[in-house]
Amino acid sequence: MKLKFLELKDNYAKILFEDTAPYFVNAIRRTLIADIPKLAIETVTIYDNTSALFDEIIAHRLGMIPLPTRLDLLNFRKECACGGKGCPSCTVHYHLSKEGECVVYSGDLVPEDPMWAVVDDKIPIVKLLKNQRLILEAEAELGTGKEHAKWQVVCGIGYKYYPIIEIDDEKCNLCKECVKACPRNILEIKRNKLTVKNIEDCILCKTCMEVCKRKAIEVKGDETRIIMQYETDGSMTAKDALMEALKILHKKYDELEKALGL
Ligand SMILES: [Zn+2]
Repeated sequence: MKLKFLELKDNYAKILFEDTAPYFVNAIRRTLIADIPKLAIETVTIYDNTSALFDEIIAHRLGMIPLPTRLDLLNFRKECACGGKGCPSCTVHYHLSKEGECVVYSGDLVPEDPMWAVVDDKIPIVKLLKNQRLILEAEAELGTGKEHAKWQVVCGIGYKYYPIIEIDDEKCNLCKECVKACPRNILEIKRNKLTVKNIEDCILCKTCMEVCKRKAIEVKGDETRIIMQYETDGSMTAKDALMEALKILHKKYDELEKALGL
């Protein structure tokens, strides 16, 4: 299998897999969604809350705030040497203290060490009116997307087969119907010939095939070449998330091999 980044930003990746099969890319997709460990707030101790929102709603909002996830420094709490009591190797502490009139933002969460500062400090949590107060402490720990969405690193993930577009020039009468119908605008008439501008933008909707009365165009998907794209919530870079997913998959296949006695 070959892998090529078509686009790579901090929180976004578009990857082309070649010499592969759909079930294998799907395994990577599922691992990216459900199995990568991520840091998120799990326990909140509220000392004072006179805001308009219930404690539970505020705790839920705090849980969904992306936190920087350093897997080289943290263990799962239940697997930690401290026996799950909470220690610097498995738990990160935050505190928050605000009085109105103001909006409480994610950036008001003060970490025990600046390296754990929230990824995005402009996520609103609650609006406080004059004299309303919110004072709390929070503990963050590692979890996975399988347990709760707050521990899901990757979002908006999907894949498609690499498009194959075949044009029969003898049947095509340059009526332009397919050019007008394509929702991604990837077809054009160039030098008296129907051509494809950017094949990777094709979403295999086959609208062009439907509007062509002469059956001059055919769209298919190549199952051995697959384009996958996804975003992360900022707790981890898109590249780190992929590396972690591949590591987890590798471990799972090793375990399967051992269990089968191969
Ligand atoms: Zn611990």
